[in-house]
Amino acid sequence: MIIAIDGPAASGKSTVARSLAARLCAGYLDTGAMYRSVAAEALRRDVSLDDTTALVELASSLTLRFEREGGSVLPTRVLADGRDVTSEIRTPEVDSAVSPVSAVPGVRQAMVRIQRELGAVGDWVVEGRDIGTVVFPDAAIKVFLTASAEERGRRREIDMRRQGLSMGAQDVQQRIEARDEYDTTREASPLVAADDAVRLDTTGLSADDVVDRIAALVEAVRR
Ligand code: C5P
Repeated sequence: MIIAIDGPAASGKSTVARSLAARLCAGYLDTGAMYRSVAAEALRRDVSLDDTTALVELASSLTLRFEREGGSVLPTRVLADGRDVTSEIRTPEVDSAVSPVSAVPGVRQAMVRIQRELGAVGDWVVEGRDIGTVVFPDAAIKVFLTASAEERGRRREIDMRRQGLSMGAQDVQQRIEARDEYDTTREASPLVAADDAVRLDTTGLSADDVVDRIAALVEAVRR
């Protein structure tokens, strides 16, 4: 069974998807981390973000692995060609580079192939932008999460503080909006809710509330 969780930046996807996967004993796939890894590697290798041929080559040859440590049931580390990129993929530099990288159709093809291979066996909670529309259009459950701009900014600020990074609220807000604008208006697999997705506005809801609601949808499908 595939549970697709899509939505804009900082809409609460990761927190909810991880917690839901743990609750359902399902796999958890963070497709944003995959695009971020390609972007991080492109920056490290000095690949120009305009060089689509080089970006596609990079995405097609990069080996991505999600690893669990210390008895965790969910992945805790991301490895790109064996290199631990877990922290690097969350930096402001990668934040800025990831949208142009993920807008390249060949990069998406390479990532979607891996995502479909992984999701072919077992139960998965998969989060991203195009999971319910493109990657798994037949997903058993499709959820599109949203939240107000203020709430998303606040959540991203908390995330950043946790990583020891600090940025003004206005800056954080602008960066979220810029990424959403890019992701929504690109030609290849733009960020859009699937027609059959359940839309959930998470503003003012706790992560547990949201997980409870999605778990109820899963229960109804399983019955
Ligand atoms: O989910 P996260 O914010 O980590 O995603 C980072 C970026 O990766 C998004 O802004 C988007 O450009 C890209 N992405 C995508 N398709 C997905 C997941 C992420 O294009 N399925």
